[in-house]
Amino acid sequence: MEQQICLWCREDTSFGTGKFVNRIPASKQDSIDDEYETGYQCADCQAEECSVCKQSVIEYSFTENCDAICYECNPDEDEDYVYDRECDDCGAKTCAEVAYFYEDKTFCEDCCPDGYGE
Ligand SMILES: [Zn+2]
Ligand SMILES: [Zn+2]
Ligand SMILES: [Zn+2]
Repeated sequence: MEQQICLWCREDTSFGTGKFVNRIPASKQDSIDDEYETGYQCADCQAEECSVCKQSVIEYSFTENCDAICYECNPDEDEDYVYDRECDDCGAKTCAEVAYFYEDKTFCEDCCPDGYGE
């Protein structure tokens, strides 16, 4: 039977364990002499501690120093731009700063609607 454990914490991630949700298929080999394993990584083990706010976060990127940093603390993210709008044309996330609003619809930068500004 296929093992459904998290390869990091070795806990069962099969359906009904509470770790089934948000698990991702993963493989792991610690060194060339170790067994190559396939299984899953549970949500808890996907999380990294943000080097700035010390919160455990699943979505993060890395700084130049290879520290994990959450999106909220990432200085590279342009704080003026909040991508909370959705383009009615292509469905991409867009930002009110750059979006076009036309006939009660929202369009991203790439989807400037015909007739806009006429
Ligand atoms: Zn785990
Ligand atoms: Zn943070
Ligand atoms: Zn668009």
